[in-house]
Amino acid sequence: MTTRLLHSDKNVSDELDVAPPLHLSANYAARDADHLREISGPLGNNYYARRGNPTSERLAKVIAELEGGETGLVFASGMGAISTAMMAFTKAGDHVIGQQNHYIGITEMLDKVLPGYGVESTKVDQTSVEAFERAIRPNTKLIVLETPVNPMMHITDLKAVCDLARSKGIVTLCDNTFATSINQRPMEFGVDIVMHSVTKYIGGHHDLLAGSLTTSRQHAERIWDLSMTIGAAGNAFNSWLALRGIRTLELRMRQHNANALELARFLEAHPAVHKVFYPGLHSHPQHELAAKQMSGFGGLLTFDLKGGYEAGQSFIKRLELVDYASSLGGVTSTAVQPAVLFGGRLSPDQVLKQGIAPGLIRFATGIENTDDLIVDVDRALNGL
Ligand SMILES: *Cc1c(COP(=O)(O)O)cnc(C)c1O
Repeated sequence: MTTRLLHSDKNVSDELDVAPPLHLSANYAARDADHLREISGPLGNNYYARRGNPTSERLAKVIAELEGGETGLVFASGMGAISTAMMAFTKAGDHVIGQQNHYIGITEMLDKVLPGYGVESTKVDQTSVEAFERAIRPNTKLIVLETPVNPMMHITDLKAVCDLARSKGIVTLCDNTFATSINQRPMEFGVDIVMHSVTKYIGGHHDLLAGSLTTSRQHAERIWDLSMTIGAAGNAFNSWLALRGIRTLELRMRQHNANALELARFLEAHPAVHKVFYPGLHSHPQHELAAKQMSGFGGLLTFDLKGGYEAGQSFIKRLELVDYASSLGGVTSTAVQPAVLFGGRLSPDQVLKQGIAPGLIRFATGIENTDDLIVDVDRALNGL
């Protein structure tokens, strides 16, 4: 995989640069009328930067190579990508199915934004294929998936849900940010559109904001058409940073996977910990399904501390290697207490309803050496 990550975009231009060039121009000159027609056509990126730019196109190509998709688009953020896709495939009178648990921005799209424009949505228990089946209506146009998902690391059976969707002509859209294409390739199970918050593992260094969609050329043209109007196109500099990050994605994921698995096992045996949620653990109720569709289990885990809210606060404060930060997927570890993170937007009751216990910690392992990470966590736990 790394070899393909390094070489798949080599011959995209005539340039002899060994590293990708950074195209900052917002505007491009045409040679003549025919040329203008050519560069301003669908998926064109050498015309005006809201329509795309060559550096972002190059990043989209590498991501498509990873996911096994035909083509792709880069957006200003993960939310820019997924909200544009959700709008491109729905109109007033349509119906969308999503999961009870999603990244919070996707939940907002399902609960507030789309219904405000006359698109109905139903959120189902993602662990039940029957729940998806029951939710399908004649006007269902889109199913949004995300696996694994916060906060309990639930898994969606991609193949079963996509078979179902395909038999009814419904488009499927999967947020693959947490797993990454190194651990899980949703298109192999029939997903039509794969989305990434490039901000996370693909960028990998906590220093850029971007999103991507990978899909067929036909779907891409439809999304591109709307994105022209929405104006959420990715910018060249962030794409250039992401191209630099993506070269080491497989190497980094190997260490993220190893760190999270080791840490999950360590925490499971620790007396201060009530429960650990990580799809790589045999105790995870959907471990077998996870092992069927994932080749590694990712860098993210959650665990519930016996001491509740207060224990969570002092645990995070006592960590030395780990930043108290809400984003994830970078080379350094971060941890956050979801009860605090979501407390601003949700009532204490809603927080509990989402399955978020007061002492729950979401830990995003970086690529530190495993032993150092465990020593840091152990010390922080033992002081509680
Ligand atoms: C961060 C994130 C998003 C949103 O991406 P942005 O780049 O922050 O807009 C969507 N889904 C998941 C799973 C994420 O972690």
